[in-house]
Amino acid sequence: MNDDIYNSPPYESGKQPSEAPVAVVTPRTWQSLFSPSNSPPEWAGCCTREGRVIYNGEYVNRVLCGDGYYGGHRFDVQYFYREFIHELSHQDLNISIFGGSEEMIDFFAGNSNWVFEGLAELTPGIRQSTSDFRRLLQTHVGEHPDFSSQDLNGDFWRVDDGPAGLNLAYQYSARLVRRLASILSQLYYKSTGYLNTKPYGGLVCWWEVARNRYLGGQRESFIDAVEDVASVRQGTLLSIERQWRSDVLNGTAE
Ligand SMILES: [Zn+2]
Repeated sequence: MNDDIYNSPPYESGKQPSEAPVAVVTPRTWQSLFSPSNSPPEWAGCCTREGRVIYNGEYVNRVLCGDGYYGGHRFDVQYFYREFIHELSHQDLNISIFGGSEEMIDFFAGNSNWVFEGLAELTPGIRQSTSDFRRLLQTHVGEHPDFSSQDLNGDFWRVDDGPAGLNLAYQYSARLVRRLASILSQLYYKSTGYLNTKPYGGLVCWWEVARNRYLGGQRESFIDAVEDVASVRQGTLLSIERQWRSDVLNGTAE
């Protein structure tokens, strides 16, 4: 791929996200997006930053024009488009709820990243069969019996060893968000009298609540904000997760 067709630099401060919502950058510019302590794994080809979906041009080139092998994994075009939809979902939430504020997004990613990633991963649809997911979960829980969503905060690149369609963290997050979505809608309805009927609309409404509390000085996770405002006992949603997880392992839930 010729460097001329790359956008550079990837973003400038003060630039409105809508001016260039997607950027393809040179490998060198891609690397410069990350600090040495937060460098992406070699198979990561895109991310969402400051209201933009940013691609490493080498990744785009390999997947769309080459043999699809990048960073030790094979990516097909269908995977590429699903990932694009995943990233657009992040971008939509990041801009519509957080106004593109990296400070707020980083804060909530640090304590609630599974909610972000689960929702983004649900937008293109679950990628793994339930039996594959169950097998993956069984293996992981065998090694980490206390595994839960609380292990899925911060950067997923640190907890996963492969792209979203192949690993546990994204698939666990997506299925858990799907499990909690209707509960969250009902809690929102009970708390406010407003029923949002859009897919995962209740969850997005709770993000607005968590954001408003953050802006009011409250520093808490997404789940803590929900449980406080909805006046449910602390740990209620985590106990629902534990039950769901054991139902998945027993083969009675997805
Ligand atoms: Zn993501």
